[in-house]
Amino acid sequence: MIETDLMIIGSGPGGYETALYAVNKGLKVVLAEEREVGGTCLNRGCIPTKSLLHDATKAASGNTELQAEAFKRAMERKEQVVAGLRQGISTLLSNPAITLLQEHATFVDAKTVTVGEEIVKPQHVIIATGSKVKMPPLPGIKEPRSPYVFTSDDLLSSPILPPNVCVIGAGVIGLEMATMFRDFGCKVDVVEFLSECLPTVDGEIARRLRKTLEKSGIKFHLACQVCEVNGNEVIYLNTKKKTEEHIVSDCILVATGRAPQVEGLELETAGIQYNGHGILVDDDFTTTVPDIYAIGDVNGRQMLAHAATAQGRHAVNRILGLEDRIRFDIMPAAVFTRPEVASVGLTEELVRSQFPDYTTHKGFYRSNGKAQAIEATEGLVKIICDGKQPDSKIVGCHVMGANAAAIVQEVAALINFDVTLEQLRDIIHIHPTLNEVLLQAASD
Ligand code: FAD
Repeated sequence: MIETDLMIIGSGPGGYETALYAVNKGLKVVLAEEREVGGTCLNRGCIPTKSLLHDATKAASGNTELQAEAFKRAMERKEQVVAGLRQGISTLLSNPAITLLQEHATFVDAKTVTVGEEIVKPQHVIIATGSKVKMPPLPGIKEPRSPYVFTSDDLLSSPILPPNVCVIGAGVIGLEMATMFRDFGCKVDVVEFLSECLPTVDGEIARRLRKTLEKSGIKFHLACQVCEVNGNEVIYLNTKKKTEEHIVSDCILVATGRAPQVEGLELETAGIQYNGHGILVDDDFTTTVPDIYAIGDVNGRQMLAHAATAQGRHAVNRILGLEDRIRFDIMPAAVFTRPEVASVGLTEELVRSQFPDYTTHKGFYRSNGKAQAIEATEGLVKIICDGKQPDSKIVGCHVMGANAAAIVQEVAALINFDVTLEQLRDIIHIHPTLNEVLLQAASD
C-alpha cells in the first residue's frame, strides 16, 4: 500500500503538468496512467495533428494531386515527434517525488484507489482522465460500424492516404482534419448539421474561414443532418431543401465531439457525481466529494490542453491554500486550419446581450507589410470593446489569418489586465509583424 499527499489519475496535459507543479510545491505524488504518458494531446491530439498539418501545408504548395508519398513521410515524422516528446515527459516524471504506476486506476471508496495490484491511500485525488471520441447513435456509425467509418484516433495511426474523405462535423477537429487531407490532395466533403462551421467561434470569422476553405477546394454541406452511414455512403437530410442526399466516400471521419472518460473509474463507489457532459465540479474543480478534484476534458468545461493544465495548477493551489489569479473566463483557443483561426473573450454574438454599447474594430492583413512580404494577405483581426468611450475595455479578439494564435495570445494578456483600446494603441509593436494588424484595428 502507498500513502501519498496527492494521487493524480491520467497523465495528459492536465495530469502530468499538475504532477510536476505539485512536486515543485513540495507534495509527494502518485500518478496513474493506463496508456502512454502525454495523454490524448500528445499521442492522439494536439501534437500529431499539428505535425501532420505542417507537412500538409508544405505538400500543398504548388501541388493538387494526391500526395501519398509525402503523407507517408509525414506520418513517419509525426511518430518521431511524438516519441521524442513522450521520452521528454517520461524523463520529467522520473522525479523521485513522483511514483508513476502504469495501469488502470479505480476508486474503491473516497479514500482508496487501486491501480492494478497496488492500493493507494491519498490525502487528495485529482481526476484527469480526459475524454474519448463520441459516436452519434446512428446506423452504420454506432456498432456494428461500417468499415468505411473512422475516428480521429483511427486516422492519426493509419499510413494510407484515402483519395476522398467525408468529414461529419465542422467543429475544430473536423476542420483541422479536413484541411490536412485537402492539403495532401484528397477530395474533401464536410457535412454539418448547423448552418455554419465552428459554432463557438465569432460568426463573422467562422463564415470567412469557411469561404476561404471552400476556395481551397473543401466542399461544405451545411444544415445537413446525417441520418445513417450505409457501407461507403453517408446519407443525410438537407434540412433547408427537405431532400435526402448522399455522399459516397472511401473514408468517413466522424468528428461530432468528445465525451468524458469515466469508464472503469467506479466514481459511484466514491460518491462522485457526473453526467454525460462530465464530472460535476465547482469553480475550484472540486467534485461532489471534498478532497477529490476533476480537471481537464473529464469535467467537460473547456476541452483544451492548456485549460486542463491551468485547472490542475488551480486545484493544487486550492489544496495548498495558495491564491492565484488564473482567469478561466479568458481562455484563448485556436483552430489550426489554413489559414488559422483564434479567439479569446466574448464573440460579437455574446457581447450584444452583456454590453449593448459594444464596439468592434477591424484590421485587415492585406494592408500589412509583413502579410504582403510572406504572401499571407488573407486575414482579419476583430477586436471587441465593452463600450464607446475611450477607456472602454477590450473584451474579445477574433482573428483569421496566418499566426492568428500568436496575435490572440497577445490580446489574451491584455484582457487579463483589463487593458483599453487606447492603451493598446500606445503599445509599440515590432515592425514588420502580423501583430501590427492589431494596431491597425485599434486605430480604425
Ligand atoms: P487527456 O489528454 O485525454 O489524458 C487523459 C489520460 O488519462 C489518458 O492518457 C488516459 O489513458 C488516462 N486515463 C483515463 N482513464 C484512466 C484510468 N482509469 N486509469 C489510468 N489512466 C487513465 N487541444 C488544444 O488545446 N489544442 C489543440 O490543437 C488540440 N488539438 C486536438 C486534436 C485532436 C485530434 C484531439 C482529439 C484533441 C485535440 N485537443 C487540442 C484537445 C486536447 O487533446 C485535450 O483537451 C487534452 O488532451 C485534455 O487533457 P487531459 O489531461 O484532460 O486528458
